[in-house]
Amino acid sequence: MTVRVRFAPSPTGYLHIGGARTALFNWMFARKHGGKFILRIEDTDQKRYVEGAVEAIKDGLTWLGIDWDEGPDKGGSFGPYVQTMRSSLYLTWANRLLDMGHAYKCFCSAEELDEMRKEQTEKKLPLGYDRRCRILTEEEIKKRENETDGFVIRFKMPMDGTTVVKDMIRGEIPYENKQINDAVLLKSDGLPTYHLANVIDDHFMEITHIMRADEWINTAPLHIHLYQAFGWDMPDYAHLPLVMNPSGKGKLSKRSQGFDDSGTEVLVRVDEFEKAGMLPEAVVNFLANVGWNFGEDQEKFTMEEAIPKFNLEDINPAPSQLPYSKLDWLNSKYIQEMSDADLAKALKPYLDAEGLEVTDEALLAIVPAMKVRLKRLTDGEEMLQFLSKDEVFAPEAEKLAHKKIADPLNAIMKARDLIAGLAEFSVETLSAGLSALGEKVTDNEKAGPFLGLMRYAVTGQPVSPPLYESAFALGKESTLERLDRCIELLK
Ligand code: GLU
Repeated sequence: MTVRVRFAPSPTGYLHIGGARTALFNWMFARKHGGKFILRIEDTDQKRYVEGAVEAIKDGLTWLGIDWDEGPDKGGSFGPYVQTMRSSLYLTWANRLLDMGHAYKCFCSAEELDEMRKEQTEKKLPLGYDRRCRILTEEEIKKRENETDGFVIRFKMPMDGTTVVKDMIRGEIPYENKQINDAVLLKSDGLPTYHLANVIDDHFMEITHIMRADEWINTAPLHIHLYQAFGWDMPDYAHLPLVMNPSGKGKLSKRSQGFDDSGTEVLVRVDEFEKAGMLPEAVVNFLANVGWNFGEDQEKFTMEEAIPKFNLEDINPAPSQLPYSKLDWLNSKYIQEMSDADLAKALKPYLDAEGLEVTDEALLAIVPAMKVRLKRLTDGEEMLQFLSKDEVFAPEAEKLAHKKIADPLNAIMKARDLIAGLAEFSVETLSAGLSALGEKVTDNEKAGPFLGLMRYAVTGQPVSPPLYESAFALGKESTLERLDRCIELLK
């Protein structure tokens, strides 16, 4: 048997990090078993459809490195992979259920249903459809068909007995059939509801394992009866633990965005992780730790390492929170592992977005010194301001004074001469020359204060990368120009 799993988002907005976790686990499972990972767009609820959402979902998955084997654009032999393009299939099978006596037409209007709900609320009865159209005679049905504009098709759920949902993560969960509504399968607009479309697609796309969010588990008994009514084999179920918001109360949602009680930033949409300067490797690693664990107390791992170890049985069914406090730590680790060239390339779009025009050469020169200081790719923006072509270099005279340096003007002039006289302008020669000079111009013969002063004199920034690399990245000419400006200022 070839494992076939799917991620089936509804295009109602951006890719949410909880959804990305569902996609990731499906993908890891498929990759582990040499199976197929399918992307299917469940867009039959046209009222909730959001323009651009399909693109946002695809972009989010692509950024995370979650590739699909079949899906919209990609194709495959089980397509189309967008539900509204499959409507005739759902209609055919809904009619088949009618013919087989597993479903019925319901003519109740919205007003009638409202009335019913009101009455149930007043009488403190359980809410739900009271099945009044289930018992219509053939004649009544004919009559209602002529009188009313449209109808929906509802499933005839058995009214007694128990349905046991077997879940690979949650174990066996019994449901009393009478508690389950006669759900609408086909709406009056001719489009299916989630239940019908989802079951039909999972069957015809030969899905072997349904891995979906825990919030869907209560629909499983209905889906089980649908499979039985159609006479189809069931895929296996694995309901993935809910991703909670940082307060631990309720599900992570758009409203959770912001900062948690400890001041840690809470990001919710996948594109926001990217905007915040996170690396996709860090984000998938962070996500894989939610509800599953690598073992051996190891929190940092690559997908390559994790996939062979990934087992559904090891997923903890308890709702879990995203470990936001670990995200910056993970991200900085992945940044440190990058080659200088890759990091420079990764930083570039963030600098561009802030309008910082830094040449590739300067960036590559400064990257080795910045690496250990970066938690996020966005951290470069503040640090590298001084390298931007448009930077207005405006040091302040007071900041060029240091109480441990008796004569800052003289110290900077000496440094200027030293740099001008360097035969070779490199991090090494700058380091050797300036540290030796520092010991001479500072009261206690320690170069620290002088180097701090020089760092400000060269970058004009209170926060910057180390001096030698900063000067090197600026280049000899600009460094000298800036020192001249400081000398003028102090004079
Ligand atoms: N379309 C459903 C959603 O948006 C998919 C649920 C499932 O995977 O079956 O979450």
